[in-house]
Amino acid sequence: MKVAVIGTGYVGLVSGVCLAAKGHAVTCVDLRPEVVERLSIGLATIHENGLPELLQEVFIAGTFGASLDLAAAVSAADLVLIAVGTPSVDGRIDLTAITTAAEQVGAALRDVDRFVAVVVKSTVVPGTTDTVVRDALQRSSGKLVGEFGLGMNPEFLREGNAIEDFMNPDRIVFGHEDPQTLARLEDLYRPWTCDKLAVNTRTAEMIKYANNCLLATQISAVNELANLCFEMGGIDVRDVMAGVHLDQRWSPLTTAGRVRPQILSYLVPGCGFGGSCFPKDVQALRTLGQDRGLPMHALQAVLDINDAQPLQVIRQLESALGDLRGRSILILGLAFKPDTDDLRESASLRIIDQLLALGAHVSAHDPIALEPARRHYAAQPITFVEDWSAAVSAAEAVVVATAWRDYAPLPALRPRVLADARRMFQPGDFPESVYLAIGLRPLTSP
Ligand code: NAD
Repeated sequence: MKVAVIGTGYVGLVSGVCLAAKGHAVTCVDLRPEVVERLSIGLATIHENGLPELLQEVFIAGTFGASLDLAAAVSAADLVLIAVGTPSVDGRIDLTAITTAAEQVGAALRDVDRFVAVVVKSTVVPGTTDTVVRDALQRSSGKLVGEFGLGMNPEFLREGNAIEDFMNPDRIVFGHEDPQTLARLEDLYRPWTCDKLAVNTRTAEMIKYANNCLLATQISAVNELANLCFEMGGIDVRDVMAGVHLDQRWSPLTTAGRVRPQILSYLVPGCGFGGSCFPKDVQALRTLGQDRGLPMHALQAVLDINDAQPLQVIRQLESALGDLRGRSILILGLAFKPDTDDLRESASLRIIDQLLALGAHVSAHDPIALEPARRHYAAQPITFVEDWSAAVSAAEAVVVATAWRDYAPLPALRPRVLADARRMFQPGDFPESVYLAIGLRPLTSP
């Protein structure tokens, strides 16, 4: 099938490369010339495990191409995937890029006399595809849904694991407004054998939001419990969660032993969730409900807990060092999670911003996100270090803010004060250090 992907960021590029690897003829379109230029010579534009190799493969096989020419790509396509960004503005998603893309796709469809299915892959709040996107497409094409197809195919990939997630998904959702689009989506994903669910577009949109909101809820619920354990003293939330994980409704007991599902990785304490999806998606669904007169108490609480969670680290540093003005603090990890260079909504940045506001001297390291961090903090007095282990002894305190495996040798470097904001280590790993951890405060004698 000929596929045009509009928007070649994390989702568009990974989708395009994976669909090409399954034999479809894919053209990835972007409006950034530098992106198209690199992709046109087979070079990846984002950091993602396995992407450079797979991109090379499809580039050499001739099933993948990149272009600035949206109209040409759409005119040649059987199916168009719209994967442009939907950033958060004041708790709502900004539909500017998606509306513009839909208008451009519609204009390109005006002179096409074949059936082309237009499918939204971006995350959009329930009711967007069958209103805003439909209107833009119909207006600019002069055609009605039926003459072209309309669908919504939410993406569940996780950055850092995106190729693996796209190639081996747990489910694929076929949101559609017409039977021909459903048939196109079934053809597109025929090489995949996972569970497939056909629903209308607003249900497809809601599945994506409900999924992320429930995952984010697990994280904030555990973080609230962690903070209570810290207040109480003498309770390590990690031991608490180890006990909870053993409930067979979380980790079923089978004849082959205990199954430890991935959901358990969300039921751990930390300094809060970030990234381009969870904060934005929870805010958007909260606001959608509130706009309709529903208070959305649970999602508001998830956000409130998450907003405050990075500040737990600051409190703990203050408890160990007192006033942080003039103190040298080394932040290890800037990306919102390991295996990505994405800084969006990273808890590390919240911690750094607060440290700067309090007058601390901040140095920082990340295995792959140093460059974007340098750009982000261009005008700020932060020292970015390439050699993190050499920087440990110079720092009065070290904060592990992203659980990169690279930092595993940290105990041997004996930091003076360590704030383990991701609970990457055991308390006993730092016998000579002041060990601070989310969800753990030793019981001091009365
Ligand atoms: P991104 O910002 O990395 O990429 C969007 C790309 O679209 C950019 O390269 C931009 O230049 C391009 N673009 C914008 N308007 C265009 C146009 N009219 N024509 C051509 N190109 C255009 O975004 P992303 O992280 O890939 O996210 C895309 C969507 O997928 C969002 O709605 C996001 O919420 C959703 N999503 C993201 C993830 C993730 O992990 N990043 C996971 C699932 C879903």
